[in-house]
Amino acid sequence: MEIIETVSAMRDWSERERRSGRRIALVPTMGFLHEGHLSLVRDAKKRAGRVVVSIFVNPTQFGPEEDFAAYPRDFERDCRLLEQEQIDIVFHPALGAMYPDGAETYVEVEKLSLSLCGAMRPGHFRGVATAVAKLFNIVRPHVAIFGEKDYQQLQVIRRMVRDLSMEVEIVGHPIVREPDGLAMSSRNAYLTPDERRAAVCLSRSLCMAQRSVHSGETSAQSLLLLVRAELAKERLANLEYVKLCDPESLMDVETIDRSALLALAVRFGKARLIDNRILTR
Ligand code: AMP
Repeated sequence: MEIIETVSAMRDWSERERRSGRRIALVPTMGFLHEGHLSLVRDAKKRAGRVVVSIFVNPTQFGPEEDFAAYPRDFERDCRLLEQEQIDIVFHPALGAMYPDGAETYVEVEKLSLSLCGAMRPGHFRGVATAVAKLFNIVRPHVAIFGEKDYQQLQVIRRMVRDLSMEVEIVGHPIVREPDGLAMSSRNAYLTPDERRAAVCLSRSLCMAQRSVHSGETSAQSLLLLVRAELAKERLANLEYVKLCDPESLMDVETIDRSALLALAVRFGKARLIDNRILTR
């Protein structure tokens, strides 16, 4: 495994691999890796002969009041974990390599970025799309793997790739969960033991909603009430949003026809956690 820190060295490596006819997979991350990230890496290994994992805490996707400075980082541990997975390259660019002085160009996926998390975090998906577009230009992967935990992010990236005719296949990977159902996240490290116990209410409420749909409920209003009531039982949970929307357009739906995305964001103290589930009839 090699650690590459400069854009030119990353480009040179990709160019060589492409010339030799090898397929390159990219797994973009912000580091502080957990089993969710590693599951994406294993998926990438099945899809390409060469795997690049990028580690970059991207400042442009954090709002001014958000946790950019406090975001957990442990590059050495991340490298040890990736070494065990036998990947080829850790791409770890410096801030100035990703955003040269005077950078003023952004990628904006307009409507898809406005709902759900985008409504609470203005500019977040513009930052995500810009950083991912840059990573695609530098690493030039044939395929890139993203987690369905960040469902809206996955849809934004898919739309960007389609709209800008980027030559990369986007793969969505299912959410990896702790044994009690909590979706794995680097931000789970912020949780106190009490908050950690309470946080299982996210996945529990999503499961309850699915059971309700299987028993015949199709009204979004009733399902949202059910989820709100379940979350309200947890004193430590502060609901930011819960929405039932079309899985493609992310627009609110009033009834479930075939399937719908149930997505939520909940704060526990310092931690803002998200989770989602596609509800099917
Ligand atoms: P992050 O480091 O949080 O930016 O995540 C990097 C990638 O890992 C993104 O594509 C995430 O959606 C994905 N990811 C993070 N946590 C999980 C999880 N629990 N299950 C599946 N994918 C995940």
